[in-house]
Amino acid sequence: MNKPVPEISPQRCASFRNALLAWHRHHHRPLPWKGEKNPYLVWLSEIILQQTRVEQGLPYFERFKERFPTVQDLARATEDEVLKLWEGLGYYSRARHLHHSAKYIVNELKGVFPDNYDAIRNLKGVGDYTAAAIASFAFDLPHAVVDGNVYRVLSRCFADGTPIDTTAGKKRFAALANRLIHPGRPADFNQAMMDLGAGVCTPAAPNCAACPLAPVCEARKKNMATELPVKSKKLKRRTRHFAYLMIRHKSGFYIRQRTGNDIWKNLYELPSIELKKPLKKVQELRYEHPWLSSDAVQGTRVSARLRHELTHQRIEAIFCEVEVNDDFCAPEEECWQWITPNDLPDFAFPKLILRYLQQKALSLERC
Ligand code: SF4
Repeated sequence: MNKPVPEISPQRCASFRNALLAWHRHHHRPLPWKGEKNPYLVWLSEIILQQTRVEQGLPYFERFKERFPTVQDLARATEDEVLKLWEGLGYYSRARHLHHSAKYIVNELKGVFPDNYDAIRNLKGVGDYTAAAIASFAFDLPHAVVDGNVYRVLSRCFADGTPIDTTAGKKRFAALANRLIHPGRPADFNQAMMDLGAGVCTPAAPNCAACPLAPVCEARKKNMATELPVKSKKLKRRTRHFAYLMIRHKSGFYIRQRTGNDIWKNLYELPSIELKKPLKKVQELRYEHPWLSSDAVQGTRVSARLRHELTHQRIEAIFCEVEVNDDFCAPEEECWQWITPNDLPDFAFPKLILRYLQQKALSLERC
């Protein structure tokens, strides 16, 4: 049975809020979207920051803001344009959802951004956390954000070992945060909680000596801060093996668009096949691509293995560079596109492919 959410006395609530907000007045992290009240820009920053470090997301926020200053500008763009601007940031479904929702706001809501939690939560790509962030930052509504930083601060302050990756844990910490939030200053409270978790109550080395919540923190009293928060399961990653073909013809090469419900949907890549185990010899590819044995193929080289980590998958890739002559005919059913390096800016590629295309320093060995 789920443990009841602890009652918090009004005095403890007040001590918590006051200490946090007083600290934040002097220790907030200046960022371009802080204090922003334009819901479109708040939404944009929050979607970009999902599963992304601030330093990494910042230039993307600036780029999107400049290229698509309003939700109407974003709605008018093509999906390829949006994906290209998102290139390298990962989790590309965020970009597709952002674009979908921009069109929805313009076409169905007459261009007016929704102004209440439920309607915001209804937008594609917006979960509980993002809806609370937009509701509080743009509209000053008292909805507490609960991200990894907030889980950590709360589980430590209340010495609560409920696993944060379970439904019960998520509900419990969300209820706690919503009891603590300052009803008159929800945006400041939410920002302060996240900044405290990011800068003071850090995962491995919480700086309790500098923490405004130290007087009310149970984990500090019990000397168990680094044991919290608790997670019930370890992240499991499955390994996938890809062999990419860089088919060079004249001054260009072939690419294709990824389709289907898999990673990197609608992005572009080099023609590839997925293998059950790591490729040992390029000859193994000839079963899948019989044309590799044709006279049109003049040389084949294979790269060292590249590894790319996603949240739930590890991709191990090798790149086979194939030189073909004028007799080569691309298999029609494959929908490959022949491009030259000058065309690269028109297509969005996953980071793994970009790394290969940009770092031609990769050692290619004859095999
Ligand atoms: S006192 Fe220490 S453990 Fe408690 S919230 Fe502050 S930094 Fe975290």
